[in-house]
Amino acid sequence: MTPLGHSAPGTHDLPAPPHAGHQRTTRSSAGPDPVAGRTLLGIDYGGTSSKLLLARVDGDGFALVRSHRIVTPRSLPALAASIRVFLGPDRPVALGTTVPGLLDETTGTVLASTNVPWLTGLNPAHELSAALGIPAVAVHDGNAAAAAEAALGAGRESDDLFVLALGTGIAGAHIVDGELRRGAHGAAGEVGHMASGQGRLCSCGQRGCLESAIGGTQLATRWSESRAARPSPPTTTSPPTTAPSLDATAPGPGPDSSSRAESAPAAARTGTEDAHAVVEANAEGAQAVVEAGTQGARAVVETSAEGARAVVEAASAGDPAAITLLDEVTTTLSHSLLGIVALIDPGLIVIGGGLAESRTWILDPVVRKTAQNATFHQLPPIVPAELGIWAGAWGAVLAAHAATPTSH
Ligand SMILES: [Zn+2]
Repeated sequence: MTPLGHSAPGTHDLPAPPHAGHQRTTRSSAGPDPVAGRTLLGIDYGGTSSKLLLARVDGDGFALVRSHRIVTPRSLPALAASIRVFLGPDRPVALGTTVPGLLDETTGTVLASTNVPWLTGLNPAHELSAALGIPAVAVHDGNAAAAAEAALGAGRESDDLFVLALGTGIAGAHIVDGELRRGAHGAAGEVGHMASGQGRLCSCGQRGCLESAIGGTQLATRWSESRAARPSPPTTTSPPTTAPSLDATAPGPGPDSSSRAESAPAAARTGTEDAHAVVEANAEGAQAVVEAGTQGARAVVETSAEGARAVVEAASAGDPAAITLLDEVTTTLSHSLLGIVALIDPGLIVIGGGLAESRTWILDPVVRKTAQNATFHQLPPIVPAELGIWAGAWGAVLAAHAATPTSH
């Protein structure tokens, strides 16, 4: 494939192919799909990296043709140019693009975007359609990812589910019979801003929001505050016997703990000093990646995910502060999940986003604590998302499919 900008997807981020035979398409009409055998383009337009995914409408579902990650172009004409290279001779019947921000769903105009401010006031679908000669539709990035998890990912067999995304921010989506419950004003799902009125000031202006407690940005901030507060060299006042070892405190082996085996266990075995060294090294590495920003392919890793990853790696190395911080995160999250269950009684909860990547330190404790703290609640299964970073691109494919005419 012709390279597009900087891109180096590893095998762990390859787009998960949808599960054949189980897709719930967004089209409700009976009869053969008029675009069967044709392709659709999904674009997940992010603040740092963007994903391009070409899918073929195949039977009742979709088949991956190919996908690619690029550093986010800084203008829509530049994005169109990247798309042309990606497509080559392929002519998709329609394209969908996510928008990282508030979208007027009637006109397609971007009302506000924190991550990509220059998008505000533009109409990405109109501009891409005009530049490429392909019908286009725009969709909110979080809604797209949730719709994809519901139709093609972990929720594909559930009729009533709640998708919780734990990233830089925290967002939720309630999907019933394949339809996203948008609310009377299209503003539903802001679980990250359910506030207690006490605690940290949130970016939304309230105090004590879930996002201001455990959102990716806040977690990274709390972690750096914790690191800054501690003495840099371990002193004699540090009681090694109270520093939990990996074996004593890890909730158990999980898929992520094995994948982190290269950096963490050796330090955990050799004691607190080496563990601190690993923590510092991890933090330095994460910082370097963040600073690389849009300059390199590693920028595809979100800042908050790096922050969360650094905390998880420190916890795996036995760092008591990291273990305490993650314990607080999972306790808070379990109470929030019980609130969601009490309010909407979903049949399934799917948890995705960078913060949820660790089963050992995030997902498994959340599931356990939610069950422990439940009283009257009818607890649904709580499962990890399946589409990973490609959920938004698949959601854009779904939006493109739903927007194509049902007959020619
Ligand atoms: Zn808030």
